[in-house]
Amino acid sequence: MDYNLILKQIQSEFADTPISGRVASYIPELAKVPPDKFGMHLLDCKGRHYCFGDSNERFSIQSISKVFSLALAMKAIGDELWNRVDVEPSGVPFNSLSQLENEAGIPRNPFINAGALVVADVLVSNFSNPKGALLTFIHEITGDDSIDFDPVVAASEAQEGYRNRALVNYMKSFGNIENKAADVLDLYFHQCAIEMSCKDLAQAFILFSNQGKLLETEREILTSVQVKRINALMQTCGFYDEAGEFTFKVGLPGKSGVGGGIVALHPQHYAVAVWSPPLNPNGNSALGMDVLERLTQLTGLSIF
Ligand code: GLU
Repeated sequence: MDYNLILKQIQSEFADTPISGRVASYIPELAKVPPDKFGMHLLDCKGRHYCFGDSNERFSIQSISKVFSLALAMKAIGDELWNRVDVEPSGVPFNSLSQLENEAGIPRNPFINAGALVVADVLVSNFSNPKGALLTFIHEITGDDSIDFDPVVAASEAQEGYRNRALVNYMKSFGNIENKAADVLDLYFHQCAIEMSCKDLAQAFILFSNQGKLLETEREILTSVQVKRINALMQTCGFYDEAGEFTFKVGLPGKSGVGGGIVALHPQHYAVAVWSPPLNPNGNSALGMDVLERLTQLTGLSIF
């Protein structure tokens, strides 16, 4: 597959696309990001890199971090996790409280905010320094120790995080949060504030296209069953209530974040990340969705 040619074609086709969507503003620091940032990076399973635009610039990965925290929690407590968080698409916005009422404080899946907060609680229970453990995991799978939190973004979200505070306290009332709400939120706000570039994200997510093994050394980080489950969750729940649309248009497992990043992967082929901050009404990068749809049109391949 000539990914070089395909990315060049995508770059030229989308170069003059008028900006549609709006940069997230409910986290004040994110509102400051220029809307015209645009980059893409594809890493194939043979270790070859292809990129254009702002692909090396780091941005706030936001909800994409939920894939890393889930992987770490699965490694820490195995199948016990599924007693506390379900694996069904939610069909409601990412920060919704309503389902928790009827479902006894068990979140629909680990990628809505409620589910990610339960996963954060698991990490707080199982690691003496959960923020450090999460960063160490990301450093291990990317081979890059310079990846870090942006403390300004974390503080900005903490200041305005009324809904996430409500979610964690509500789940605590059902007995589904073990630790102090403040400790769980501190980890959650920091994980969302991790800064990575499209290149870093492709480097991290190649693990999920390479059956859980690091590309360079083939060292196993996750079992093939764990990878199957994480990819299945990305496919069915990775885009909030637009997971069906992403599956329909792109046909790959992936995860988005309100920082405007989307990362997707084709098992045994590649991992790809796109960054464009303006979001569509469902909170997913508007341009990112279109670019990835074009990618699977041009390759002629998806998982389906
Ligand atoms: N930090 C964001 C929040 O909790 C993450 C949401 C997202 O990226 O979709 O609202």
